[in-house]
Amino acid sequence: MNLTYQSTRGGESGLTASQAILKGLADDGGLFMPTSIPKLDVTMEELAGMTYQETAYRVMKQFLTDFTEEELRYCIDHAYDSKFDTEEIAPLVKADGAYYLELFHGSTIAFKDMALSILPYLMTTSAKKNHVENEIVILTATSGDTGKAAMAGFADVPGTRIIVFYPKGGVSKVQELQMVTQKGANTAVVSIHGNFDDAQTGVKKIFGDKEFAAKLAAKGFQLSSANSINIGRLVPQVVYYVYAYAKLVQNGEVRNGDLINVTVPTGNFGNILAAYLAKQMGVPIKTLICASNDNKVLYDFFKTGTYDRKREFILTNSPSMDILISSNLERLIYLSTGCDAAANKKLMEDLSTKGAYTVTDSMKAFMKDFVGGYATEAENAAGMKHLADETGYIIDTHTGVASCVYKKYVAETGDKTPTVIASTASPYKFSHSVMAAVTGKEAETDEFASIDALCKASGVAIPRAVEEIRNAEIRHTRECDAADMEKNVAEILGL
Ligand SMILES: *Cc1c(COP(=O)(O)O)cnc(C)c1O
Repeated sequence: MNLTYQSTRGGESGLTASQAILKGLADDGGLFMPTSIPKLDVTMEELAGMTYQETAYRVMKQFLTDFTEEELRYCIDHAYDSKFDTEEIAPLVKADGAYYLELFHGSTIAFKDMALSILPYLMTTSAKKNHVENEIVILTATSGDTGKAAMAGFADVPGTRIIVFYPKGGVSKVQELQMVTQKGANTAVVSIHGNFDDAQTGVKKIFGDKEFAAKLAAKGFQLSSANSINIGRLVPQVVYYVYAYAKLVQNGEVRNGDLINVTVPTGNFGNILAAYLAKQMGVPIKTLICASNDNKVLYDFFKTGTYDRKREFILTNSPSMDILISSNLERLIYLSTGCDAAANKKLMEDLSTKGAYTVTDSMKAFMKDFVGGYATEAENAAGMKHLADETGYIIDTHTGVASCVYKKYVAETGDKTPTVIASTASPYKFSHSVMAAVTGKEAETDEFASIDALCKASGVAIPRAVEEIRNAEIRHTRECDAADMEKNVAEILGL
């Protein structure tokens, strides 16, 4: 049976999975959702003995029904290979009574790798299935993590080019070095004179330029997007929640059927939505704890039913969670209306015109499995230090937020359900903030001094991704004004 995909705003329906992946975003601005959420067709006992790759196949084939077994296994085997520094791909580490699901063992040491290492294969396979002859050009604006993970995924993938724009001076040292040293003949990196919003606006402008699209088509190119609203990024993220539960069963930590809770450090709401989909597929998950930093728009939403982005944007030490518009929440809103696209569209219009919307009581009741929590900078640092002192386990600042929120949740509710915490980045990616938190002292001024100190403190080897940038050749030096982004794309592609 073929599962089809439709826009959360009602404008498009009947797309196959591969068509939805190719499009990324619906023409009406909505996100693609399957007409129903499929169930797992294997038992947990069976899953318990499976590798990550086999689990990925069993989960993803339920969503991507127009992919053949051969196509899907090809994508999975090429994505989850030696790019990951452990065969387990996503290991579970027990510390201080919780299970940390480490999602940062891929090539850019953040959880974005879990989906962005497979998206290029899903996209090129989708292109082939739909007889797309053009070379696909991925345009990405990034504030740090997504651009690097997307490039690492698309580097030297035949039939694709990737161009990343980042704000000059607006990313961390490690993030910038990771991007400008990126290898791959099909990769290009451009720093723009402006902020992230300027980069994002510029990319959107290029997408909307029909004349430019015609010029590209004449030369055999078409644009696509690798950002987190693509269903091809969401589906691969469901896998690790299924895998984590199966591992807990296999290791005797829970009995098959026992409920678990999941805590996720949240920004754009993609990762926690994947956990919700895993629950709908049949994984015994009770509560989904949505952890925020000081930008606690989601905490307020789950508490009051009103989503209000009209507030100050706060810069924190967990920058990948500094976000006031969580795009993937739209998918949950849509489900909570009983898949009423018109009702969802109205709320999303309210968000863009009035900056806020309020859900109905029945929608709020639909979301009762979600609980919001937040941690301040000071609470986060204290929590990270406590965990390191008590157990020797050092976590990154984003995972720190989740860890802290989980502890507050247990203290408030007494809920002792076994809990998986999504660990979204290696502490090495944020060495400065991590070392400042666990030592309780001002950080070293040199980034690599913090990295070496972290190695001493944690006893964990410095990841390849960090060693690589220490002395790597700078390959990308292109800079431009925000107004000249399209011109630069044309130059890079040789139009
Ligand atoms: C992107 C990111 C998040 C937020 O994930 P969402 O899916 O956007 O909610 C959390 N932590 C890290 C390290 C990230 O890179």
